[in-house]
Amino acid sequence: MGTLKLQLQLFDAHCHLQDGRIGQVASQLIQTAANVGVRRFVVNGTNEEDWELVKQMGETHSSVIPCFGLHPWFVGKCSSNWLTVLRGFFETVPSAAVGEIGLDKGCAQGKAVDFITQTQVFKQQLELARQLQRPASVHCVSAFADLQEILREMGPFPAGIILHSYMGSSEMVQTLAKFGAYFSFSGFLTSMKPQKAKRILQAVPTDRILLETDAPDALPHVNPGSLVWVPGDPTVPEELQKQLEDQLTSDRVSAEPSSSIHEGITKKGGDLSFPKKALNHPANIYSVLQYVSSLLEISEEELAQISYKNTIRLFSYPGSKLC
Ligand SMILES: [Zn+2]
Repeated sequence: MGTLKLQLQLFDAHCHLQDGRIGQVASQLIQTAANVGVRRFVVNGTNEEDWELVKQMGETHSSVIPCFGLHPWFVGKCSSNWLTVLRGFFETVPSAAVGEIGLDKGCAQGKAVDFITQTQVFKQQLELARQLQRPASVHCVSAFADLQEILREMGPFPAGIILHSYMGSSEMVQTLAKFGAYFSFSGFLTSMKPQKAKRILQAVPTDRILLETDAPDALPHVNPGSLVWVPGDPTVPEELQKQLEDQLTSDRVSAEPSSSIHEGITKKGGDLSFPKKALNHPANIYSVLQYVSSLLEISEEELAQISYKNTIRLFSYPGSKLC
C-alpha cells in the first residue's frame, strides 16, 4: 500500500434519505458521506407515498440499497390494497430488502395507531420477508415483549431481522439473537446513560452488531463541532454551517481520509451550544462509530471492520446489489 493511508469503510445499515426534509439534497449528502468512507446506504421506505422515491433512489445511486415497508406510524394511513402494492415493489425491484416495519407503543405517533392493527400489519410483512428470504428492518418502541412473542411464534428468521436504533435491554439480546436478530446502533444511543448503553453493547454478539444513522433523525448528541450538517438546515447556527463549508470546500479534504475532516471540525466549534432540532447527515455515522467504539473499548478501525462485514453478510441475499 506504500504511503497511501486507508480510509475506514462504513455501511449505514438504516436511514431515510428519501425523507421530504432532506430528499432535495440527498445526492449531495450521499456524495459527502461517500467522501468520508460510507460505502453503502440502506434506505428505508415508511409508507405507500415514499416507496416510489426509494425505488428511484436505488436506481440513481449504486450505493443505495432500497427497502420497502409500512412503518407502524403509517398503518392507519395506508390504502386497502397496500400489501399488493408492496409485493409489486419487490417484484420490480429484486435488489430490495424489507423495511421499515415494526411495533410502537411508546411514541405519540405509535400510540395513535391501534396496536392490534399494528401487529397484524407487522406480521404480514414479516411473513413477506420470510417468503422473499430478505432481511427486515424493525422499529420497536416499548413493545419488546410483543416482539419476542411474535418472533418466537413465527421465527427464526435466517435472513436476519435488524433491530434498528436498538435501545432494548441487554437481558433480551441473547433471546432476540436466537431468532435471527441483528442489533443496529444509531445516534439515539448517545441519549442513554453511558453505563446502560455499554451493558447493551457488551451483550451483543460480535457478528450481530451494525451501525446506522437513521438520517434525517437520530442526530448524535456529541460535540457539535464534530458533526456534519445538512446543507441549508435552518436550525443549525450559521457559524457551524460555515465551518462545514470551509472544511468541505478546501482541497485538502477530498484528498485525505475521513478523520481529517472530523478532526478539523472538532478543533473548532466545541464551545457552541448543541442544535437539538438539527437534521442528521449520513456522514455522521462516523460519530456513531466513535461513540460505540469508545464504549466497547475497541478501536474505530476494528469496529468499522466488524460492522461492515456484518452488514455485507446480511445484505448479500440473492438478487442483492452486493451479489
Ligand atoms: Zn428509521
